[in-house]
Amino acid sequence: MHSRDHVSPDPAVEDSSVNLAPADQPRTVHELAERLLGAYVVDGGTVHLAGCLLENRLFLRLAARRGDQSVEFFLDRQGNDVSQAMAQTLGMANTTTLPHAPEDAGEAMRFLAEVGRRKLAERWLGPDPPTEVDLAAVWCAFAQGKLRFTIEPHAVDLPFADWARSLKPPPFICPHTNRTTYHVTALDDGRIVAAEEAAACEQSGQRVLARELVSCAATGRRVLPEFTATCPATGEAVLRSVMVSCDVCRQKMSPAAVQGGRCAACRHRERVSKSDSRLARILDEHPLLDRWRRWRLSEAAASYHLTAHGWFRRLLVIVDKDSLEIKLLATGHRLQTTWDVVEPDQYDLVLRG
Ligand SMILES: [Zn+2]
Repeated sequence: MHSRDHVSPDPAVEDSSVNLAPADQPRTVHELAERLLGAYVVDGGTVHLAGCLLENRLFLRLAARRGDQSVEFFLDRQGNDVSQAMAQTLGMANTTTLPHAPEDAGEAMRFLAEVGRRKLAERWLGPDPPTEVDLAAVWCAFAQGKLRFTIEPHAVDLPFADWARSLKPPPFICPHTNRTTYHVTALDDGRIVAAEEAAACEQSGQRVLARELVSCAATGRRVLPEFTATCPATGEAVLRSVMVSCDVCRQKMSPAAVQGGRCAACRHRERVSKSDSRLARILDEHPLLDRWRRWRLSEAAASYHLTAHGWFRRLLVIVDKDSLEIKLLATGHRLQTTWDVVEPDQYDLVLRG
């Protein structure tokens, strides 16, 4: 069946050229699907082929012989040599005959035959021309399409493109973490992610990305940030539900930061003069404080704690270190140890008094 002729004459290749295909390449989309889809685990959902095109791409196989001397090589449709590795990948060594060409390739084959003969003439080492030159069209299937991972109500597509014979299930690329995986799951908000990146909030049970959780500094539990607050004493994230209040400044904080009912800042305040740069900044920002005296100051992670004396009352002020905003104002009788918290709209009134 192979067309036989000599190196030099008659480059014409008839439509009766032999058509071959690698014997073990997938022939149908169904075969391809079977090979791909089994690779994935999709929690509570499915993966299927959402569009897949199997395209037969033309190669030329040229084999020439004379006695025990032979030459064989492959060209792609553009007439370029196919490397040995590529020929192996495509399975060109083991082919079956197709009943007909998958498409009309007469012109392409005439071009390839011409290039092939030219190359053969360069590569044939014997003094006499080959007695047999076999030309065959080899049709290799190229697959492209996409896999669709569906976990209702959402879906994520994963494109692929490779030779059908060597196509391997591509790893799912998590659109939210870029992690590659073969195990796909959905979060409670519906996002489809790599299962290895999912975790449950230990407070609410909500399934989210592990990287969206924070560690509670007091309990070590991994929880959503919304269940935590920044401890004003330590600056660490702590579950609100385990925070305790300082008896003096009323701020909620990590249990570890409170001893004997008082936070570190309330346990020890240093006497400072108005020339202390921190106090000077605060008095500059809040001029009404300037009439108070005998200032004491301590620092917590994000705030200054200050106490001062007036004629009849004591004052407790907590000021944000960055903004100098008053976060808490309380007054107490000079002879008592308890504090009365002042509402923000009363600040001016109290400070004047
Ligand atoms: Zn305190």
